[in-house]
Amino acid sequence: MDIAFIGLGNMGSGMAANLVKAGHGVRAFDLNAEAVERAVLAGATKAGSLTEACRDAAAVVTMLPAGQHVRAVYAEVFSLAPPTALLIDCSTIDVDTARAVETDAAGKGFAMVDAPVSGGVAAANGGTLTFMVGGSDDAFKRAEAILSAMGKAVIHAGVAGAGQAAKICNNMLLAITMIGTCEAFGLAEKLGLGHQVFFDIASKASGQNWSLTSYCPVPGPVPSSPANRDYQPGFAAALMLKDLTLAMQAAEMTSADTPLGAKAHALYDALCAQGHAGQDFSYMMERIRRGA
Ligand code: NAD
Repeated sequence: MDIAFIGLGNMGSGMAANLVKAGHGVRAFDLNAEAVERAVLAGATKAGSLTEACRDAAAVVTMLPAGQHVRAVYAEVFSLAPPTALLIDCSTIDVDTARAVETDAAGKGFAMVDAPVSGGVAAANGGTLTFMVGGSDDAFKRAEAILSAMGKAVIHAGVAGAGQAAKICNNMLLAITMIGTCEAFGLAEKLGLGHQVFFDIASKASGQNWSLTSYCPVPGPVPSSPANRDYQPGFAAALMLKDLTLAMQAAEMTSADTPLGAKAHALYDALCAQGHAGQDFSYMMERIRRGA
């Protein structure tokens, strides 16, 4: 299938490479020429413009930084791609923008889904992302065939925007469990409990959670976690702050009560303001340990 892939950054480059591996013809476009060259090395065809990428495409996949980029790119895609093309936005953006762009797409006769991902750069490179998809049943089925080449799970969350809704709720929960896990290790340290013994107990007791057992914020118990490599991301604190900001906007719009989400947002805001935006989000451990 001929697929236009727009946005070949940290995530998009690995995703596009996996589409190539699955046998698709990928036309790569990014504002950054180096990103396009990387995609070409992975087997994609260089597109010199959005027009070139979208011409006669059977599908358009986007992996862009934020809502404004998604709006701007699709405003052009609508007049460049054939209306038979399936449009798949994998970026993490606000629910309202996702719904608005998908409404515009439907008005122009396109099928479109929002399909944000869980899993970082390693999962994008390894083809093991989890996709949360919003859109009609028919559009989901068409998207699933493409997304399964880039992920280990493709889940239909509901109508347009539901993928983004699932993504921000999941990441708000992740931020809260990460901070809670850091607090527990911080208190355990003060009480003289070693990291490993606390891990061994909590991972088999009711405190068990993903932030503890798969992404442990102290070095030692989970060798693959970023804490073992000086908190190099992984998933940068800046990206967690972005997702928490989207969650807080959604909470305000829907009058949802999210006191722990608000606290998590304030803590990640402070961590980023202290110069740690580029470190892994589990670096929260150091902030909790310092107490400020
Ligand atoms: P990135 O900044 O590395 O890549 C984005 C790419 O989009 C860049 O190469 C940029 O040049 C390109 N771009 C921007 N505007 C464009 C335009 N108008 N036309 C063409 N290209 C354009 O970002 P990333 O880390 O790859 O993240 C992409 C999305 O995935 C974000 O929404 C992010 O929140 C989400 N996400 C990231 C991670 C992660 O660990 N990095 C994990 C899950 C989800």
